[in-house]
Amino acid sequence: MRRGLGRPVGANVRQARRRRLAAGVTLRVGAALGLLAAAPIEAQTPWSDRLALAERHRVAAISERRVTHARFWDAVAPSLDGGRLAVAEVGRSMQGRALRTVTFGAGPVTVFLWSQMHGDEATATMALADVFAFLASPEPSPLRDRIAQGLTVTVLPMLNPDGAEIFQRENAGGIDINRDVRRLASPEARTLKAVRDRLRPDFGFNLHDQNARTRVGNGEPAAIALLPPPADQARSYGPVRSRARQVAAWLAADFGNAVAGRIAKYDDTFNPRAFGDQMQAWGTSTVLIESGALPDDPEKQRLRTRHAAARLRVLEAIATRSFERADPARYESLPFNRGGAYDLLVVGGSLVVPGVGPLRADLAINFDDSVARTGGRIREVGDLETAVALDTLDLGGKFLHPMPDAVLRTGGTTWVPIGSPARFVIRETAEPAGREVGRLP
Ligand SMILES: [Zn+2]
Repeated sequence: MRRGLGRPVGANVRQARRRRLAAGVTLRVGAALGLLAAAPIEAQTPWSDRLALAERHRVAAISERRVTHARFWDAVAPSLDGGRLAVAEVGRSMQGRALRTVTFGAGPVTVFLWSQMHGDEATATMALADVFAFLASPEPSPLRDRIAQGLTVTVLPMLNPDGAEIFQRENAGGIDINRDVRRLASPEARTLKAVRDRLRPDFGFNLHDQNARTRVGNGEPAAIALLPPPADQARSYGPVRSRARQVAAWLAADFGNAVAGRIAKYDDTFNPRAFGDQMQAWGTSTVLIESGALPDDPEKQRLRTRHAAARLRVLEAIATRSFERADPARYESLPFNRGGAYDLLVVGGSLVVPGVGPLRADLAINFDDSVARTGGRIREVGDLETAVALDTLDLGGKFLHPMPDAVLRTGGTTWVPIGSPARFVIRETAEPAGREVGRLP
């Protein structure tokens, strides 16, 4: 599926950007990002320093979201061999893959993080590899010392390795592990519950990826969504959930340094089948962190690094109890998640319908895999000035010529059907012989 329609559009978008001087085709994602623009908020150390730290400890052997169990554990093996991190097999997946915990520190406060209980949600797992590399590094670090002295951190990465193997949400038996907390029918859910019961952690982080078309309220696509899940139908705030909300508020402020304007609140309806909600009920102050997507980041590598940096910072904030100064309003004032973003908007050009001629029209394109940008289809054509997408390609007055399978031809007439493959040649002029300046995808 990944290669079915040729090279991913990201490569072509980047190619288009490289050709900008010649072609006048501009990718606008950089300006929309605001990644480095925001001032630090409640930062123990400048965000840029922490980001550099995460970059420096990035595990290069992991470079794409479709990382399998074998590749993940191979990639983190050098970190685990250093003696600072303790590894233990705590269970097996339905197909027999080892579920392991990695533990660091000897402090009095226990923190438990688990990732990828949905097999196609790998961003946090990639970031955890980088966190391991930092924690295992021999270089002296006051940050590492603070975490080690204040906390005992246990991580269960890639809880659903069978799902990860084929990049599907559910486990090998088709069960959504995050809807299995009451029955514990899956070995993965039983393992998670057993680890939680043994550790009785003070804090928990439930690490997921959400639909990349999710927006921050009516705004930009969300890079991050946060939730201290409710522990009951009334969504009440007892001491456990209140403490989780303060951690979420601290994260809301902190992530604001990295993904300004792209943080939302996740739906807070109580879900008795979900682990996060029950963890909260069992007494672990739990925060759900959902990774969305950033523009021009098809393998979520930039988001991964920001995650790793934020992970280290929030551990430090718990170790030093600085999160207790976070104002819960900082979390409550986040807009809720909302759907409706497109994957790619193509603006500023004209669509050349064969036999008809050029129409002044923007295009909205969604992909089978919105982040990897494979299998693009036309979703909307026309005036899309108010539409929102993860990425925007400005054609700068150029012309989109549909490839044969992007249109329907019958009896000498041509349609552009909504839902047809989004495959175009970008040319300087409306003439079929006009100079080609790029392609979609
Ligand atoms: Zn999930």
